[in-house]
Amino acid sequence: MSSKSINVDQKLAVNRFLVDESYRHIKIRDQEACKNCETRPCTVACPAKLYEWNEETKEMMYNYEGCLECGTCLLICPHDNLDWNYPRGGFGVQYRLG
Ligand code: SF4
Ligand code: SF4
Repeated sequence: MSSKSINVDQKLAVNRFLVDESYRHIKIRDQEACKNCETRPCTVACPAKLYEWNEETKEMMYNYEGCLECGTCLLICPHDNLDWNYPRGGFGVQYRLG
């Protein structure tokens, strides 16, 4: 294995994010669909852990800040319930290599 390989936690520590305060690049279309979602795979599949089910309010809490733009949540959502776009130019994750 290459001595340069790092795990996701280490990767998160070296990434930089430029947060666009005026535009959420990920939006849940319908909280009702999340309420009825059988397994809520977004909560376990997102490598940045940005989705969390709130059992008290019966709502999916989520955050677009810290998104790694991997697209996993979009692909894995069984109800096509995410309005997903890349952040606007210049915003979002900035991967640092090396
Ligand atoms: S996988 Fe989709 S529908 Fe299910 S909880 Fe997550 S965002 Fe909601
Ligand atoms: S694109 Fe990836 S990092 Fe961003 S919210 Fe979806 S699963 Fe998480």
